Amino acid sequence: MLFRQMFEPETSTYTYLLADEQSKEALLIDPVRETIDRDVQTLQDLGLTLVAVLETHVHADHVTSAGLLRERFNAKTHVSKDGGAPCADVLVKDGDVVRFGKHALEVRQTPGHTNGCITYVDAEHRMAFTGDTLLIRGCGRTDFQQGDSTKLYRSVHDKIFTLPDDTLIYPGHDYKGRTVTSVGEEKRLNPRLGGGKTEAEFTEIMANLKLAYPKKIDEAVPANLKCGVPEGRATQEAREVSWAPIARSASGVPEVTTSWVKATMARGDYQLIDVREADERVGELRSIPNSAHVPLATVSQAARTLDKKAKFVVVCRSGGRSGRAAIELESLGFEHVASMAGGMLAWDGPRT
Ligand code: FE
Repeated sequence: MLFRQMFEPETSTYTYLLADEQSKEALLIDPVRETIDRDVQTLQDLGLTLVAVLETHVHADHVTSAGLLRERFNAKTHVSKDGGAPCADVLVKDGDVVRFGKHALEVRQTPGHTNGCITYVDAEHRMAFTGDTLLIRGCGRTDFQQGDSTKLYRSVHDKIFTLPDDTLIYPGHDYKGRTVTSVGEEKRLNPRLGGGKTEAEFTEIMANLKLAYPKKIDEAVPANLKCGVPEGRATQEAREVSWAPIARSASGVPEVTTSWVKATMARGDYQLIDVREADERVGELRSIPNSAHVPLATVSQAARTLDKKAKFVVVCRSGGRSGRAAIELESLGFEHVASMAGGMLAWDGPRT
């Protein structure tokens, strides 16, 4: 199994990438909106297909990129059935299994920090992703978002400390640079929950923490209840990040499918550019209505008059020239360019 632990420094959040090296199916646990470009690049670099995004809970300190990743990769978002986020594709509960290739994660509901907290367990590799339920020598706060210290104590003791002692614990955050701990270590050394601390002692500790109001809670929780794709400003950002379901070809060409173009061309938020010669735009293969005609040889010249922030889908006969034009436009600084894979030959389906 391929495994990466990645870090977002502003909120000290860990994002985890797990993938099956044979099937290339991957999942992300707790991806953050600010680091979506890094995560997408990592997936592309490693040739992985994102099939699922898993939230350990509805976060109060950062906004998830789950909704944006779903738009971009059609990856299924997973949130606890008790998390109150109906935007998710899959509402998970105790005993559910999330599969990626030949590997799997078991869902354990571990409420307490929030009602919808989940711990994902990889029994095969003895790893558990505990979110904010159990942190290294600590735990998530229980004074907001349905927090309940009695529930958190029970969750940790019944669902996490019952795992084998050598199970590695990967938390949702660490503020001191630590990356991993183990069940045995936390049972012995966790100052709140380990060393034989009773439920009453734990509740007492949590009641006296006197923590500051979470900085981002008023923005993050409503946004995360919509899978990180809130109204207004953020919706605009969502379009910027994932205006089209682009897949890179083996030679690096950003491509969209003819069916996506057919389904979205009426939207009017991107311009079609036809890079064929004039005589190719008539006759059997025709041209797409409202496509601008810019023969390949004139693309770099025409680019000087185009807005680099605007969105373009390039079209040709079979996808070869449009691919070259898309790469050229990207190299000139255009940020939103794709080639229509298969070209006009594929527009009406394959011809003999
Ligand atoms: Fe949290």
